[in-house]
Amino acid sequence: MVKAEGVHKSFGAAHILKGIDLEVAPREVFCLIGPSGSGKSTFLRCINHLEQINAGRLSVDGQLVGYRQKGDKLYELKDSEVALQRRDIGMVFQRFNLFPHMTALENVMEAPIQVKGEAKAVARARAEKLLDRVGLADKAKNYPTQLSGGQQQRVAIARALAMEPKLMLFDEPTSALDPELVGDVLDVMRGLAEDGMTMIVVTHEMGFAREVGDALVFMDDGVVVESGHPRDVLTNPQHDRTKSFLSKVL
Ligand code: ATP
Ligand code: MG
Repeated sequence: MVKAEGVHKSFGAAHILKGIDLEVAPREVFCLIGPSGSGKSTFLRCINHLEQINAGRLSVDGQLVGYRQKGDKLYELKDSEVALQRRDIGMVFQRFNLFPHMTALENVMEAPIQVKGEAKAVARARAEKLLDRVGLADKAKNYPTQLSGGQQQRVAIARALAMEPKLMLFDEPTSALDPELVGDVLDVMRGLAEDGMTMIVVTHEMGFAREVGDALVFMDDGVVVESGHPRDVLTNPQHDRTKSFLSKVL
């Protein structure tokens, strides 16, 4: 579903991603861990072309991200074509970024109406179902300020799902939450995994990675240091850098 081959990304003189190679299979829960500043968020942002890579190849569902290839040449996609690619990728951030002036239901309805031109009644019916799925059917009329952090994050997940993405990117979705609110969000993600959603999850929740993850990559300083099944990497890390990182977070 996602394939990165020798992906490089720099910001000015700062070389952040230094040749990332990885592959995410359909229906896989792919966990990405690593120290602060190692480039995890940058890599996620490259996947939906919020950042442009400087070298290498990055594709989602067989399509190059942001480019079209003709023969040996790459052509940049137009903004409208990038927007089409992005529609299929849901993203959930550490901060929930809900629209503050809209209710939970309106937040979930918004993108299908605005982006896909969907009929309001259709968007509403789906939004109600999605809020139910994340355990918030009774909060549909609440505004973000009337919801806890965990509830807001579940609305954010429902909002991303409303576009019926084929890939979901999670960037530390629980790290801004009070500890007692983390479980509900992880449960929603676990449910998504069981339904077969392809997910890339940047997380510090090693329990989630171990129980739900199908693959895990440890990234440090812009490179993939180690990858494998979460159970193997977490219990039997091979590289000193992985061992040292895990000794701090486990
Ligand atoms: P964290 O665990 O703290 O979220 P991360 O692994 O997600 O860290 P990134 O956010 O990808 O790390 O950042 C990697 C490096 O790239 C950092 O040194 C950061 O300062 C730098 N960086 C990220 N975005 C930009 C930008 N737009 N311009 C310049 N530098 C950037
Ligand atoms: Mg980050």
